[in-house]
Amino acid sequence: MAAKPPGIAGYPDAAMQTGVAPPDAAPAPWVASPPRYTVPASGGTPLVVSFVDVVKRFGKEVVLHGLNFSVPPGQVLGIIGPSGSGKSTTVRLMLGMYRPSSGSVTLFGQDPSRLKRVDRERVGYMPQDFVLYPTLTAEETLRFAASLYGVPWKQAARRSRELLQFVDLTEAHNRRAGDLSGGMRRRLSLAATLMHDPDFLVLDEPTAGIDPILRVTIWDGLKQARDSGKTLVVTTQYITEAEYCDNVLLVYEGMIIAAGTPDQLRHTATGGDMLDVRLRQAIEPEVAARLRQLPFVVAVKGRQRPDELRVTVHSLTNDLPLLAAFFDLEAGGQAEMEPYVPSFEDIFVRLVNHARAAQEGTSDGHASTNSATHITL
Ligand code: ADP
Ligand code: MG
Repeated sequence: MAAKPPGIAGYPDAAMQTGVAPPDAAPAPWVASPPRYTVPASGGTPLVVSFVDVVKRFGKEVVLHGLNFSVPPGQVLGIIGPSGSGKSTTVRLMLGMYRPSSGSVTLFGQDPSRLKRVDRERVGYMPQDFVLYPTLTAEETLRFAASLYGVPWKQAARRSRELLQFVDLTEAHNRRAGDLSGGMRRRLSLAATLMHDPDFLVLDEPTAGIDPILRVTIWDGLKQARDSGKTLVVTTQYITEAEYCDNVLLVYEGMIIAAGTPDQLRHTATGGDMLDVRLRQAIEPEVAARLRQLPFVVAVKGRQRPDELRVTVHSLTNDLPLLAAFFDLEAGGQAEMEPYVPSFEDIFVRLVNHARAAQEGTSDGHASTNSATHITL
């Protein structure tokens, strides 16, 4: 077998992009005791999906290590992680295509493998390997999808026009699916999934292989669907797409290593909010030392220039005035401060490192991966 590439499995160049040291490539011992996450619904709203202690094995291989999460209606939940982390398996369990080896899964409060037809039709599923009929044109493909669900002819005609426009295939409406490029076929699959206007969308890597501009358009469309009351579960390997989700489950090696809103994940990863500070002159080491002592300061790092610092505080909103006061007193004022928002690649690498440190009992102080994360929606 070929040796694993350095860096995070599936993201061999993550460390290069972020400058953050990758975890070892050796098999992770920490996968044995998974953290638990609960995403409770607000105000007693019925859950669309619920996973309780879900383990999935294929033969002897454990591919999901006890997932706990739930999906309330009206949100976009992103399941984000590298290839092989268990995204498709999670989605298939959610839809009753697989049964859990232990634990329980419900969809609309029921066993997903025994859903009534009326509930099944509420689901729009785009598998990762959506198969299109190569001889049907793009438009015929959508009409065919409509006929499977008994969408009336007139409605199907209007919807197929709208959906072709949404996925930017209007000009290709007459081209046969077999002649479309990979990215175009993916977009056509997405349109076919949306044809019967389901209220729960499960999309397995809908943006894979699609150019960045169109990915933004697709995410905009998905958010519109959410705004019209639909619930979406969307998987992706593009970590930056976390930004488009209401809540995110970060998965790695069959475990949820972090869960929350994009802002919560940033906060968990960095231990607070970061800002870049530039002063009039080089920062004295004693000033930096006093800064580190302040109770609201989490971390202080030097930058390339001697007059710059990157400071992490517990909360930007609360602590910014205090920080400004400190620089007024200690550094003659004139501090320029600007929030620094780390990239999601950086966040992901930090969270993987935290999960690993927490499992090995060498937590660096702000990893929270071993405790239940409660997300109030
Ligand atoms: P992802 O969608 O995140 O790429 P998958 O859920 O497809 O990940 O796969 C997770 C792990 O489970 C991988 O190691 C994969 O090889 C394994 N796996 C998935 N499906 C099967 C299956 N039907 N039989 C055996 N192993 C599987
Ligand atoms: Mg997959």
